[in-house]
Amino acid sequence: MEQSEAPIDLSPFYDGERQTPTGEKLELINPATGMVEREFFAASNLDVEMAVSSARRAFDVGPWQNMPPMARRQLLFAFAETIESESERLARADSTDMGKPISAARQEIAVASGFIRYYAEAIDKFYPGQTAPTPVDVVETQTYRPRGVVAAITPWNFPIVNAALKLGPALAAGNTIVLKPSEIAPSSTMHLATLAHEAGIPAGVVNIVPGAAQTGEAMVADRRVDMLTFTGSTATGQAIMRTSGEHGLKPMLLECGGKCPEIVCADMGNADLGGIAASIARSAFDNQGQVCVARSRLLVHESLLDQVLEPLVSAAKTFVPGPPHEEDTVAGPMASRAQYEKVLTAIEAGIEAGAKLIMDGRAIACPDEGFYLGPSVFTEVPDGCGLVQDEIFGPVLAVQTFRTPEEAITLANATSYGLAATIWTRDSHMAHHMSRSVRSGRTRVIGSPVNTMGALFAHCFEPCGQSGFGIDGGLRGMASYMRLQSTEYIFGSP
Ligand code: NAD
Repeated sequence: MEQSEAPIDLSPFYDGERQTPTGEKLELINPATGMVEREFFAASNLDVEMAVSSARRAFDVGPWQNMPPMARRQLLFAFAETIESESERLARADSTDMGKPISAARQEIAVASGFIRYYAEAIDKFYPGQTAPTPVDVVETQTYRPRGVVAAITPWNFPIVNAALKLGPALAAGNTIVLKPSEIAPSSTMHLATLAHEAGIPAGVVNIVPGAAQTGEAMVADRRVDMLTFTGSTATGQAIMRTSGEHGLKPMLLECGGKCPEIVCADMGNADLGGIAASIARSAFDNQGQVCVARSRLLVHESLLDQVLEPLVSAAKTFVPGPPHEEDTVAGPMASRAQYEKVLTAIEAGIEAGAKLIMDGRAIACPDEGFYLGPSVFTEVPDGCGLVQDEIFGPVLAVQTFRTPEEAITLANATSYGLAATIWTRDSHMAHHMSRSVRSGRTRVIGSPVNTMGALFAHCFEPCGQSGFGIDGGLRGMASYMRLQSTEYIFGSP
């Protein structure tokens, strides 16, 4: 089907239609050129108030939460279809907004519609309620109810996937939603409002507002919101907890930053170290390292360092950035000037701290304009240095060595984060010990290099430490968007 070339409408969507925004003017910068691509207007506090009112009415008066589950399921399937029917337009939007290579952007549209389908399917398959043991004249049911109005705030690194990961479980559970994408990459998410509407999802169920921190704060502060769900940096997560706490009590799901280790144990000496190095490079440099679960710290047993480093640097060289709209581009520019400058500062600080820069991403030939930067690799990184402590969110890998498993665990846990980890070992005892000891929400234990998405839609986990809290993904993630209600039916003696 022919897909429109028209620019995506970035005005707020609530009450089932586009609204004239009343907030401040923002610029959408194309990271491949560094130039202003277009301007748009943020949702003001008043817009947010109206969007929450729209979601409130659609929840309280209906029909969403009281609709027969099969009807809700059909509407979510239709939503997935409208997303797929506009896949090229959505992929181009993400590619232009944040510099994602077009081939990766296309895959992510399929993942996003896949998440909507997964949760649509779950509606008549996931009902975790129970009936409690009671005396004969009492029945106690424990049922899972939708929470109500969900306010969702997402980052720019996987724009449409992050939006779908909120919309899918929230809507399938019977909630209504007000969603705000990142001001850096709003287009694909803003278009989801139109696509949900075209799919027949009733007015007020899906409300999407553009904007930056101020718009997000207004959503967080609104007392009529029943639940917050946020994916983004730890600093913003903290700010959200502060703002939210000043305006009553709301349950929340916070999926925040990471500084994830990849550990290569001594027993991998006989394995395909070239393949392992290629996998390590993918985990560190995919999406320009702008991935919450990027493995940005490599901890390698000292006996394997040289055998891993050489193929690792060769693999890193394949992540040379190019124009994101070209079909064979594997890495685009950094998503924004701020992100680009943050990475440059981190590289300079690493050199100053005494780490050895064995591959310098600043020296890799890239297009002249835009926020392009190649992958960097540091070795001999001192403990406690920013390269191994702070989330850089860019293509920078810090390599350290260890002698004993205990030393590897100490290094792995020497950050405040606890999001993800990879452990390369074929020793089952080591695998068990390490996976229990390394603080991480999602841990991979791998014995040989494979390129797999794992459980994908069914994948769920809970971060720890400064990476946030609350279960995201899979069916348990859907339960995060529900509250447990018990009802006692007391009949008395017949
Ligand atoms: P960010 O925290 O700067 O922004 C995220 C969102 O929060 C944006 O929509 C932004 O407009 C909004 N926001 C900013 N200040 C706010 C405030 N005071 N109140 C309410 N909303 C506010 O993060 P980012 O730069 O967009 O994304 C990168 C971060 O996201 C990284 O730290 C990364 O690790 C994290 N991330 C985590 C996961 C995960 O699943 N754990 C997934 C993807 C990205």
